[in-house]
Amino acid sequence: MKIIETTNISKRYIMGEEVIDALKSISISVNKGEYVAFMGPSGSGKSTLMNIVGCLDTPTSGQYILNEQDVSKMSDDALATVRNKEIGFVFQTFNLLPRQSSLENVALPLIYAGYSKADRIEKAMLALKGVGLENRAGHKPNELSGGQRQRVAIARALVNDPSILLADEPTGNLDSKTSYEIMDLFDQLHSKGNTIVMVTHEDDIAQYAHRILRLRDGLVESDKINPDVRKAK
Ligand code: ADP
Ligand code: ADP
Repeated sequence: MKIIETTNISKRYIMGEEVIDALKSISISVNKGEYVAFMGPSGSGKSTLMNIVGCLDTPTSGQYILNEQDVSKMSDDALATVRNKEIGFVFQTFNLLPRQSSLENVALPLIYAGYSKADRIEKAMLALKGVGLENRAGHKPNELSGGQRQRVAIARALVNDPSILLADEPTGNLDSKTSYEIMDLFDQLHSKGNTIVMVTHEDDIAQYAHRILRLRDGLVESDKINPDVRKAK
């Protein structure tokens, strides 16, 4: 089943006199359960594509169907509703609330989703368990290592059971040992059926994905199954 389907999407930025075609004509599809890396050099359009795929922005032209919904021309409000339901974001900088515990950080998306407090705690604990941090529920971000912080962020991204885990340079702030731990966690999440889209400029990190899509100058340069998937364990 297709989760992501874009047809000839483009994105044009106009800055004064300058016209930048960040994406020219991108047609891609991602099935449920796939683990894909979006790669490419700086300026190739990765962030622009991720913002569109993640419903943070809409394309200038073309169509984007996300989980059977046409989100290409949605209003910002409608887009936000789809985004909160369908997308779990993970960032390079973790973006955790510093004064809140792991449990509270993970439970946050459930407040917006309207769950009762008891349900929020139960679901957040389950999500923490899923990333191996049930024994760190009461810790605040500054009481956790970098890898643990990223695992809390991953639990938060997954707590609402999104269609896609969208990870933007998820190991960008981590040392190589901790990066492997996060890639091992992604392997486990992929095995459990999660759909993962990871944006990275690092070749060795992209090698953990089962499919690698390379962008260059706003176009898809290649889109291939990765024959030598690297395993973190
Ligand atoms: P990448 O993530 O691969 O580095 P980006 O998607 O950030 O690439 O950028 C693609 C192109 O679009 C670049 O030329 C960049 O300068 C331009 N660009 C990105 N975002 C904006 C913006 N908000 N306004 C104007 N130009 C932008
Ligand atoms: P790592 O070796 O994984 O980078 P650390 O050496 O930073 O982790 O921390 C070891 C353990 O101690 C971690 O599991 C973390 O939860 C806990 N810890 C680290 N700093 C603090 C702190 N300031 N207060 C409470 N617990 C902490």
